[in-house]
Amino acid sequence: MRQNIKPGGRPVLSNEHTWQVLTGIALLLFALYVALPYGTFTSSIYVAASVFAAVAVAFAVRRRPLFFPYAWLLLAGGLALCAIGHAIWYWLDLYGLEPFPSLADIFYLVAYPLFAASLWLLGSQSIRDDGALSDALIVGISAAVLSWALLIAPYVYDPDLTLLQLFISAAYPVADLILLPLILRLVFLHRTQITAHRLLLVGWFAYFTADLLYAHGNSVGWYAPGGLTDGLWLIAYALFIAAAWHPSATVEPDPSASRAELSRRRLLVLGAASVLVPMVILITSGTQFEIVRVAAIASILLFLLVMHRMAGLLRETHRQAEVLEDLSHIDPLTGAVNRRQLDYELKREIARATRSHTNLSLAFADLDHFKQFNDTYGHQAGDTLLKQLVTGWREVLRSTDVVARIGGEEFLILFPDADSEQAHIVLERMRHVVPRDQTFSAGLATLQSNESADDFIARADNAMYAAKHHGRNRIVVADN
Ligand code: GH3
Ligand code: MG
Ligand code: MG
Repeated sequence: MRQNIKPGGRPVLSNEHTWQVLTGIALLLFALYVALPYGTFTSSIYVAASVFAAVAVAFAVRRRPLFFPYAWLLLAGGLALCAIGHAIWYWLDLYGLEPFPSLADIFYLVAYPLFAASLWLLGSQSIRDDGALSDALIVGISAAVLSWALLIAPYVYDPDLTLLQLFISAAYPVADLILLPLILRLVFLHRTQITAHRLLLVGWFAYFTADLLYAHGNSVGWYAPGGLTDGLWLIAYALFIAAAWHPSATVEPDPSASRAELSRRRLLVLGAASVLVPMVILITSGTQFEIVRVAAIASILLFLLVMHRMAGLLRETHRQAEVLEDLSHIDPLTGAVNRRQLDYELKREIARATRSHTNLSLAFADLDHFKQFNDTYGHQAGDTLLKQLVTGWREVLRSTDVVARIGGEEFLILFPDADSEQAHIVLERMRHVVPRDQTFSAGLATLQSNESADDFIARADNAMYAAKHHGRNRIVVADN
């Protein structure tokens, strides 16, 4: 951003302190509003504070490379609507007219969709994370039911309220109910590691508290303008300004920080949230029929959300099971298949060869003096050689051939559709690609009719021992 430079050259408003200065101004306006007696001047301060908030957040978007700039613009737009609402509200109140319900409420309520869109955008990211939204809804719904049962429901059915008053006073808690899961979603996305989001979070809680107190105070009759209840909205505005100007609002959120995981703490939070609604039913049943009904609806919703969450986890578990399944087939060092998979493939190939009257050859290969290689060059070099060996073999083998590592330096190679001579040629090629001048001895067998897998392997194994016995570095073809 541009900086004001004093003649001395020192920045007056340095980048990292701007957010503190702006928040300080907003908090000062809050203090003035609460401290001074209610009247035209104080209500002007209130309207000024809300205009200041809208302008400050909008300017943050213009002046700084904020992440999700549209989210912040929507927040600024919502704040601007609230500022207009406040101006109308105080004007009506000071002229002795009834400010509730009035045109002001329309501005206040129209601001909510902008706030909701802003929070939704802040939580949006490239990878899907329905876990966070479900969890947020679970906690959000139970918190909403609890606050509604304790603070709103007992008073909202006040027979003195007109239908319009009833409708509008119910609209605020409903709108808050929609915003609450959206802000909780940011928490569950682990975004509270971002200070800007933490400031937003606290700001929104101040906002919700103000809404609740206002609804309660209005229906019970203790609410009077100029007090702490209105002040709480100004605190929320100050925190929004702080969030928009905080250096962390320009930081790209780390998508890897968000996982559909269920940590123990999160499970506790979800469990507590899920029992909250039935507890409300338990405590209030018999006294408040309406509450029972709402709590029952919320319970059904919570149950469906928990099911949705479980389905998500199940999908994740299945995916991991598939990965494990792959891993269970493969030798991690060389990428060759392991003994288990070889047994499976061997049986399949024997059945196929028998059925289609084709040849199937099998080689048992064992590196020569590999212990000595390890002793000379180290175990690490031995590992590297094994890896390169399999890679090199792959290049001279057909894609249908199977290389299996069945022991430290012992391999079984399956040659479908190959007789002894063809397999011998391939084995010769394999001998030429062994790295670092190392050699192997191999026994080669071709499937006989009605031969079992074990006998087939045993013949190749015996031939390999014969190769070792005859001086190593050679291929011995098994007797039929
Ligand atoms: P021979 O020619 O008789 O087969 O001699 P050899 O040394 O290859 O056979 P032996 O069975 O005596 O020793 C096998 C050696 O293979 C023992 C060990 O040092 C080495 N080895 C087995 N598995 C691994 C492995 O995973 N990595 C490495 N680097 N070496 C291994
Ligand atoms: Mg061996
Ligand atoms: Mg060996």
